[in-house]
Amino acid sequence: MDSRDFPAQAAAALEQPTLQRSLAAMRTAMPGLRATALAGLPDYPALRARARDMRDASIGSLGELLRAYEARVIAAGGTVHWARNAEEACRIVGELCDAAGARRVIKSKSMVTEEIGLNDSLQRRGLQVTETDLGEYIIQLRGERPSHILAPALHLGLADVAATFEQHHRRPRAEPLREAEDMLAEARAELRAAFLGADVGITGANFLVAETGAAVIVTNEGNADLSMTLPATHIVVTGIEKVVPTLEDLGVLLRLLARSAIGEPLSAYTTLVHGPRRPGDAAGPRAFHVVLVDNGRSSLLGTTQQPLLRCIRCSACLNHCPVYTSVGGHAYGSVYSGPIGAALTPALTGIAAAAHLPNASTLCGRCEDVCPVAIPIPDILRHWRSQALAARIGTGPERPGLRAWRYLAAHPWLYGRVLALAARVLRLLSVPAGARRRLRGLGSLGRGWFAWRDLPAPDGETFQERWRRRRLRQRGA
Ligand code: SF4
Repeated sequence: MDSRDFPAQAAAALEQPTLQRSLAAMRTAMPGLRATALAGLPDYPALRARARDMRDASIGSLGELLRAYEARVIAAGGTVHWARNAEEACRIVGELCDAAGARRVIKSKSMVTEEIGLNDSLQRRGLQVTETDLGEYIIQLRGERPSHILAPALHLGLADVAATFEQHHRRPRAEPLREAEDMLAEARAELRAAFLGADVGITGANFLVAETGAAVIVTNEGNADLSMTLPATHIVVTGIEKVVPTLEDLGVLLRLLARSAIGEPLSAYTTLVHGPRRPGDAAGPRAFHVVLVDNGRSSLLGTTQQPLLRCIRCSACLNHCPVYTSVGGHAYGSVYSGPIGAALTPALTGIAAAAHLPNASTLCGRCEDVCPVAIPIPDILRHWRSQALAARIGTGPERPGLRAWRYLAAHPWLYGRVLALAARVLRLLSVPAGARRRLRGLGSLGRGWFAWRDLPAPDGETFQERWRRRRLRQRGA
């Protein structure tokens, strides 16, 4: 899957029944769950504004906060590594695994490790890598990418999972797998062996707290806690933008994160880790490392896209997006999908590789409305659209079309005449049910637009003409 193929991938996604069932369930359930959870907060708008301002202030003093965080981690006996890009981050993690004499690695879900292609890199070094989040584990077996930030196997049904387990687990069974509970028990048994045999555990971090040196890891399955406590080495891989100043600031984001993500006050597990096992601790890793990944993030500082760094990866914008909830995540062809993916991917890969994504939006603004840190995603999508247009990327007939529109908009008399003519032509072309059947013949634009929607037959008069007629009638009355 590639972002360049978004139109074909989106069309294919619309024809996938399992995916469409999952997306329909998401459309039905998630908005209500989120709204109910946020209604339980005393003053959501004020909390949201506080979160936005705090994230902006943190990003404004990123270097200072990260250095404070690093000092705390070192004081606790850990090590912080700085990675400028994906290659550097993968090399650092690989070398840490080599230094630990590791052969087997377990991982909890982490979007930044997807972004940098960590699994492939470690496997090329000969390491055996096992994802331990259930959804990630399933898609790892299938060689797929996540289709949602929080629900990576959203595109699959029970039958798909059963077939995947049959193929990979090769367990003797009296009956084929049918029930979710049986599949869960089987995955748990497989993963238990991976947990117990792992040399290194890798997790992401939802937040880093500069004040205390905590890496904050939020999950619903508890797999991250096993990944970080059972192996002798724990490596946290996370983006540089995740740092917040204080525990109090963390509290603001935690109150918003799970409510926005899953409609619950908190996720099942929220763990704060500070370093390796201390003398007297009953459990924990003997070595603790944090890899801070830049990979294009610092290039957003000082630009109109800087608000993207506020993102707390809650996925509310995906769950409420009419485009994402129609085509799912794989159609985007990028690690990050939905509105945040459409806005962030061009910054990570360049607009040439992702020019379709900012256009995969109706600009309805729901993403910004539901974002707990108020990221102006529609404005950022407009920015990328104009960048693509300026770079003459994939614009087809858009450029002459926009030039013609600009000319007409600057000449109101001509604009009115052309619209009046268009309204009459549309009236002539329309069939009783609407204009769709005829207008699909108008090249790729007509085919694309009218494949899924219709245009009510116009009455042959423009709004301006009707307005003028009404004014004249009022004057005459
Ligand atoms: S952009 Fe906002 S709504 Fe979307 S994942 Fe990030 S924080 Fe959540």
